[in-house]
Amino acid sequence: MLTETRANPRRRDVIGACPLDCPDACSWVVSVENGRAVELRANRAHPFTGKTLCVKVNPYLSYSANPDRLLYPMRRVGSKGEGRFARITWDEALDEIATRLRTVIDRDGAEAIWPYAGTGTVGWIQGIVGAGKRLFHYLGASRNDTTICSVSGHAGMSYTTGSAAGMDPEDLAHSALVLLWGTNTLVSNRHLWPFIAAARDRGAAVVTIDPIRTQTAARSDLHLALRPGTDGALALALMHQLVVLGAEDCDYLAQRTLGWAEFRDKLLGDFPPGRAADICGIDESQIIDLAERIAASRPTGIRSLMGMQRHQGAGQALRVLSCLPAVTGDYHRHGGGMCYSTAPTYQLNKDALRGSDLGPRNTRSLATTRLGQGLLELKNPPVNALVMWAANPIASNPQQQRIRRGLSRKDLFFVLIEHFQTDTADYADILLPGTMQTEHTDMEVSFSHLYLNWNEPAVTPPGECLPHTEMFRRLARRMDLAEPALYDSDDDLARAALASEHPALRGITLEALKAQGWVRLNWPTPYQPFLDRFFTPSGKFEFRSTRAEADGVGLYPHYTPPAEAAGAAEAADADSLALVASANNFLINSIFANSPHHKRAGTPIVTLHPLDAERRSLIDGSRVRIYNERGSFYARLRISDDTRPGVAATTKGHWPKHNNGATINATVMERDSDMARGAVFHDNRVSIEPALE
Ligand code: SF4
Repeated sequence: MLTETRANPRRRDVIGACPLDCPDACSWVVSVENGRAVELRANRAHPFTGKTLCVKVNPYLSYSANPDRLLYPMRRVGSKGEGRFARITWDEALDEIATRLRTVIDRDGAEAIWPYAGTGTVGWIQGIVGAGKRLFHYLGASRNDTTICSVSGHAGMSYTTGSAAGMDPEDLAHSALVLLWGTNTLVSNRHLWPFIAAARDRGAAVVTIDPIRTQTAARSDLHLALRPGTDGALALALMHQLVVLGAEDCDYLAQRTLGWAEFRDKLLGDFPPGRAADICGIDESQIIDLAERIAASRPTGIRSLMGMQRHQGAGQALRVLSCLPAVTGDYHRHGGGMCYSTAPTYQLNKDALRGSDLGPRNTRSLATTRLGQGLLELKNPPVNALVMWAANPIASNPQQQRIRRGLSRKDLFFVLIEHFQTDTADYADILLPGTMQTEHTDMEVSFSHLYLNWNEPAVTPPGECLPHTEMFRRLARRMDLAEPALYDSDDDLARAALASEHPALRGITLEALKAQGWVRLNWPTPYQPFLDRFFTPSGKFEFRSTRAEADGVGLYPHYTPPAEAAGAAEAADADSLALVASANNFLINSIFANSPHHKRAGTPIVTLHPLDAERRSLIDGSRVRIYNERGSFYARLRISDDTRPGVAATTKGHWPKHNNGATINATVMERDSDMARGAVFHDNRVSIEPALE
């Protein structure tokens, strides 16, 4: 939407939306004068994100005007990884890409192409769902499975409730007890905090469950600092204790759930608070106290996010946790239940947008978090062409050094669309300059609210930057492809996504979306998705899931210990520490790490408990080396009881090229969690030693 401001007729306001991988999906307003974006602010009309943006995105206009920005297509002239490029024309770039992709297809088949979309933008037109998806589906390339973020939790929760979209997060304002489980709300979901504060004003207690005393934990009434990856054991013990207290909702369990008696007898019996206390490394009394609070406070609202599902047992952890509101019957109370991600509420027409039917449907699916393995080990065919957008895997993915080896392959043709010359960009054969959010069209969904946002371009792109969609249209033409759907405009793509039969989107047109900049999905208010039925095969909450059993993950929800962070691995290597890397307040994924405005993100810091530091004779503020068999990185040591003994804490998002070539992800293993091939970033064991200054 465009409006002229009365005070200054040369100034116009354009409504857009933040594209970053953040639950909040803020709506924003860009003021433009003489063709230049001069101010960016929150769209005050937006019901969820109205007041402010955030410390990360406030300087977005300076970030987009950064003199280091890539403005022209470039071809590599140095060796892979060296980062030397020379400017070329768009014609030269497109000719070379078309020719090289044709050669790969003719020689190895189209599945030798990996179209790799990262989460640098989660916009539906320019990002993970749209952009090049139609072109590569049409060609029959391998498919890209975005396993880096939330997939395990979605899979786990869908076995019990049928959807990861539980209660509307806004309804936490009506909870009598709020559990923030594995989420640092004040940093990673900050627009939810006012709803939690409203519950508090009404007398609700706020409990944070997190191995680290985060900002959110520090502002909570109670903090349970459990061992990383032991969440499932804690949830089982809480349910055990609720039964001991006689606080289960027997009518609800009898009428609305499947398999309760077996789950109670077989699973809960094994997890009395004392046993869970040993596993989780907390006091038994803390578990009993929290169970008593849940029993006494109806309803309890649980907010969980991605942090607690980056372990070996990630899917089971969410599956188990989602059982808690079924035991108390809180799923049918306003302000009760559990929210993980509202993404499934959107019901947009994904298949139409990405052109799922344009090519063969049975092409192989490659996991984003297995990039190193994919490049080095895949056969029949090997990956011989990598076309990547919105991704910086050397900074963001597990096993950094392995990815470097994969990208160094001389026979790999690598095209990257980027804004800046990242570590990953240093390995590209062709580097293409992409537009930023104020310069292109996009449509944004949230995983924390029920509003669909529109992003109208506000300014002309600088240099020769192009939207991702336009690059792929031009590439299709250069490859002489006749399929008309490959040339649809961005508005056509948005219309295709909105063309859904689902009632949630009924009456929501592109025109209505553009007119206001956002629109609430057609769900009732309040949104209580499981009031009438669960979206499972039985229509009930499924403690017992034959689907899960058929998928090989067990008939009942259960506790799966982490592979490295706690338990057997800990016992085998008592000198090592579990290492978790939460979000940095100033960075998002690896975005902004090169921006002078985000200097406050600082250099990597690792926090150790005073007992762990003393045992290793480490000094506060000194330089340390953190290492395991996969790799190592350097950081400054901070000694604090913000973390528990046995657990080291750092933050993610720094660029290796600013930090001696390696960051936390040099130590993380490229391994799948128990469900949906999710990444295991927090299931990591390292040693720490002093390093030379
Ligand atoms: S990063 Fe999150 S909080 Fe910040 S502007 Fe974007 S959506 Fe909003």
